[in-house]
Amino acid sequence: MIIGVLGAGQLARMLALAGKPLGLQFIFLDPAPESCAAEVGEHLQGAYTDRALLAQLAQRCDVVTYEFENVPVEIIDLIAEQTPVYPPAKALAVAQDRLLEKNFFRDLGIATAPYAAVNSLAELERAISDIGWPAILKTRTLGYDGKGQALTRSSEDLAGALEQLQGAPAIVEGFVAFQREVSIIAARSVSGAIVYYPLSENQHRNGILRLAKSSANDPLQSEAEVIITRLLEALDYVGILALELFDLNGHLVANEFAPRVHNSGHWTIEGSETSQFENHLRAILDQPLGDTATRGFAAMQNFIGGTPSLAEVLAIPKAHMHLYNKAPRKGRKVAHATLRADNPEELAEQVAVLKHLADQSDDS
Ligand code: AMP
Repeated sequence: MIIGVLGAGQLARMLALAGKPLGLQFIFLDPAPESCAAEVGEHLQGAYTDRALLAQLAQRCDVVTYEFENVPVEIIDLIAEQTPVYPPAKALAVAQDRLLEKNFFRDLGIATAPYAAVNSLAELERAISDIGWPAILKTRTLGYDGKGQALTRSSEDLAGALEQLQGAPAIVEGFVAFQREVSIIAARSVSGAIVYYPLSENQHRNGILRLAKSSANDPLQSEAEVIITRLLEALDYVGILALELFDLNGHLVANEFAPRVHNSGHWTIEGSETSQFENHLRAILDQPLGDTATRGFAAMQNFIGGTPSLAEVLAIPKAHMHLYNKAPRKGRKVAHATLRADNPEELAEQVAVLKHLADQSDDS
């Protein structure tokens, strides 16, 4: 079987690494001349809108998937005329636009921060008079890792915040004074079978995920499963879906979802019986989904902009390094390491060592 992937970054690379033992082959479409997935599959270099390359991908692949949200929806529709594409285009369309996404949550009865669409200073002032301070202004589209966002604390910040967004259509959201950030990852197969991973507890800095930890027996697990099931079913979803949530006083508030394998699920490679990457492939191929049980306690540390030496990471007995072979660049995710432990205390000790190493090589 041949899997087509739009995008050839580290997520595509890890999908292919998970698919090799299943006998799968991979073709990636990506405009970048150097792509880190190219080592583990065939790289078609060209624009995502290149009709000839899209036709080739559709013709040669049994199923097509994608590793990032900013794929134009028309491309998915075009490929889907010939070859199945998962996750479905609707999930992509909703996830691409923060306003549609928040409306979608609201229509499904899923709690969100208070929000409003804003296109001018007057609208922003009006919205904040309802929402209150602090508030976060976000571009509706193309925002990721905290980009396209501005925190506002008083009316003096508003004009500058709007300017920062350079006239892009925006939403404003109330600031959620959360205790924790968590995510739930689930897989749904073509036949509709669903499996859920244990919640991941996530720490961000400058809008970028740094540390993700499995949260065994989390009191919010079942609430998170109910919420993500509503999304999976409303979207007739196929593949891995990741939902980012805030824990606000013991209840979940939805922030956003990603229709793809997700950085907060990287610890599942060594930390779970079946990784998110393998379950994504099983789901889109309509194979039985794998057990999601955690093997002990697991965590993942991202390396941004640079990495410690391999020897320093591998000296931690239960650490596993994942280098993406990407050229280091400021703010770029270049590797991660997974930790496993038999108890939370051991995990905390190992995390402290790894975090220290990451801080030394981190450039952001
Ligand atoms: P996002 O791009 O929406 O995932 O935002 C990036 C990060 O900004 C999140 O992981 C949170 O740490 C923070 N953030 C985003 N929206 C809010 C909000 N409404 N209230 C508080 N923090 C937020």
